[in-house]
Amino acid sequence: MLRVTANSETCAVSSLCVYRLPGVFDQDEDGLVVVLDETPDGELHEEVRRAARGCPTKSIRVTEE
Ligand code: SF4
Repeated sequence: MLRVTANSETCAVSSLCVYRLPGVFDQDEDGLVVVLDETPDGELHEEVRRAARGCPTKSIRVTEE
């Protein structure tokens, strides 16, 4: 299983992850990242990994369990 978490304290409000995966990531009223789905379906895993790699502040953590 893939688990995704995000650190809103280092999030730079770039919206990149939200744009890529709106069903997995969202933003709070300050624009900071919120994870909507910590265990996304298999067909999203590659895109989740890509979003983590693409986060400019490395605020997205992906762990495989
Ligand atoms: S890509 Fe990174 S910096 Fe940008 S909104 Fe998502 S978590 Fe924040």
